[in-house]
Amino acid sequence: VSARLTSMDLPKWTVGALCAQVDPELFFPERGGTAPEIVRDALRVCAACEIRARCAEEALANHERFGVWGGMSERTRRRKLRETAAASVVAAGPTAAVVLGGEAA
Ligand code: SF4
Repeated sequence: VSARLTSMDLPKWTVGALCAQVDPELFFPERGGTAPEIVRDALRVCAACEIRARCAEEALANHERFGVWGGMSERTRRRKLRETAAASVVAAGPTAAVVLGGEAA
């Protein structure tokens, strides 16, 4: 939260964000930013953050691509978004699978 927004445009839900109290580099490492060992410290901060659930919800809804948000690495968010998309196709039925390039069973 802290590295991308200034204090002037922080949404209200970010009040209490623990990442605002630590080095932003933890959350947005320049190299190897998706490796678990690189983001481990950021994930520990998130684990203690009182707004983690809301942060995770916002990050997924906004398709945040970079950094650690809501206790999730970039890899974890990509996986969750893929799972959600796949679940939507299944829920929509075979017609949606055909439209999206899949096979109708
Ligand atoms: S959950 Fe993590 S990224 Fe989100 S506000 Fe809290 S410390 Fe920051």
